[in-house]
Amino acid sequence: MTSPLFTRVAIVGFGLIGSSIARCVAEYPGLAKDVVCIDRSQTVCDRVMELGIAAAASTDPALVATADLVVLATPIGAFADLGAIIGPHLAPGTILTDVGSVKQSVVRDIGPHVPDGVHFVPGHPLAGTEHSGPDAGFASLFKDRWCILTPVPDSDAAAVEKLAAFWRGCGSQIELMEPGHHDRVLAITSHLPHLIAYTIVGTATDLEEHLKSEVIRFSASGFRDFTRIAASDPVMWRDIFLNNREAVLEVIQRFTEDLTALQRAIRWGEGEKLEELFTRTRAIRRSIIDAKQA
Ligand code: NAP
Repeated sequence: MTSPLFTRVAIVGFGLIGSSIARCVAEYPGLAKDVVCIDRSQTVCDRVMELGIAAAASTDPALVATADLVVLATPIGAFADLGAIIGPHLAPGTILTDVGSVKQSVVRDIGPHVPDGVHFVPGHPLAGTEHSGPDAGFASLFKDRWCILTPVPDSDAAAVEKLAAFWRGCGSQIELMEPGHHDRVLAITSHLPHLIAYTIVGTATDLEEHLKSEVIRFSASGFRDFTRIAASDPVMWRDIFLNNREAVLEVIQRFTEDLTALQRAIRWGEGEKLEELFTRTRAIRRSIIDAKQA
């Protein structure tokens, strides 16, 4: 029997993503001997032990000292403080990674706290749901999804490859990207769509009581789909927008211009312009289905 990639994985922040990684380790062979949970909430730690998805669970960040892979899986706003707290406890040779949805801020907030001899390789699995907490995780979450690794200039190549092998073992496909490029790509593919969903659902909520009840009663799939996205964790999304400010503001500007052009086409009855755009967007949907990312 070959030995697993890692001896112990410590996951800091044991919610949807953290607990899904733990379930992958339990379900897929060769990833790690065991997983330990570190969460600021004793309730989460108790629940994790009840679910039997970690060998140990503690609110004490010093537990990271026992791991050779440490995964930060809290909302990214907590990373700067967490880096300062766990940095001194990391053992030499450990790989330190994260699953945060913005990458430049993670390099800024964690980078300065990484001790010599610890390998820092930021990452982002492009997989999730609108649910939170340790009960929400499942082992197949990362299957056939991309995991983007954004190594820093002094990331050790062997550590990058070892982490890539871990994510492949969770079912993911790997892409390497520069952190700033990642943040620009995600601003358009993930952050703007969430902002639009929050806006639409917020606008509907602001309508007077009478109309609001009708919005909910007659919500067809369009509005319903937006409410699912807009049910995503408020703290996580607050942190994403505050930490990817430049790239998000740039895509909002582009989006606003395109929306104004559509508004004009509707006003002037330019049906062919609308049809041309809707035909192009339909083809994009087909290519996403073909790429098995639907
Ligand atoms: P989640 O289900 O809300 O879990 C986060 C966990 O971290 C919670 O148990 C939370 O505790 C805990 N926590 C918060 N601050 C902490 C701290 N300082 N120390 C220790 N634990 C702390 O969140 P999630 O959806 O798994 O997201 C986690 C990360 O994954 C985020 O950085 C997000 O950007 C990234 N991500 C999310 C998705 C997605 O779709 N959800 C996809 C890809 C990447 P409390 O409940 O007490 O706050």
